[in-house]
Amino acid sequence: MIDFALEKFVEMAGSDARKHFVGGMASGWADDPNTLGAYAAARPGRYAARDLLARPIADKLFFAGEAVAGPYAVLCSGTYYSGQAQAEAVIRALGP
Ligand SMILES: Cc1cc2nc3c(=O)[nH]c(=O)nc-3n(C[C@H](O)[C@H](O)[C@H](O)COP(=O)(O)OP(=O)(O)OC[C@H]3O[C@@H](n4cnc5c(N)ncnc54)[C@H](O)[C@@H]3O)c2cc1C
Repeated sequence: MIDFALEKFVEMAGSDARKHFVGGMASGWADDPNTLGAYAAARPGRYAARDLLARPIADKLFFAGEAVAGPYAVLCSGTYYSGQAQAEAVIRALGP
């Protein structure tokens, strides 16, 4: 599975990508009795709740991660961008 994914990635990104590959792993997400293939999702019609969840509390407690990643919710990219945005918000809250 990992070889296949790496091969497809090299097709997209070029053979140079292979030398940056450190290692891979696969989860049994669908079969693990603790996860059963579950994903975090907003209920239909409740997508706006993610914005509410993302609001800091008293400019002291800040939230980042997949659940508060706006249009990129439940993606690694969104997690990264939300972390960046929240780090900047913390810096602003701390002031000069
Ligand atoms: C099977 C599967 C496949 C996926 N595939 C993709 C994909 O191909 N591309 C993509 O972009 N995204 C994918 N995702 C989504 C991506 O993995 C998540 O969006 C991302 O990892 C979320 O990052 P996060 O930091 O918000 O949360 P997490 O990665 O869940 O990190 C939360 C951390 O908090 C820790 N934690 C929890 N509770 C506590 C506590 N009380 N005290 C201390 N630590 C705690 C957890 O152990 C964990 O390390 C996939 C997700 C799954 C489940």
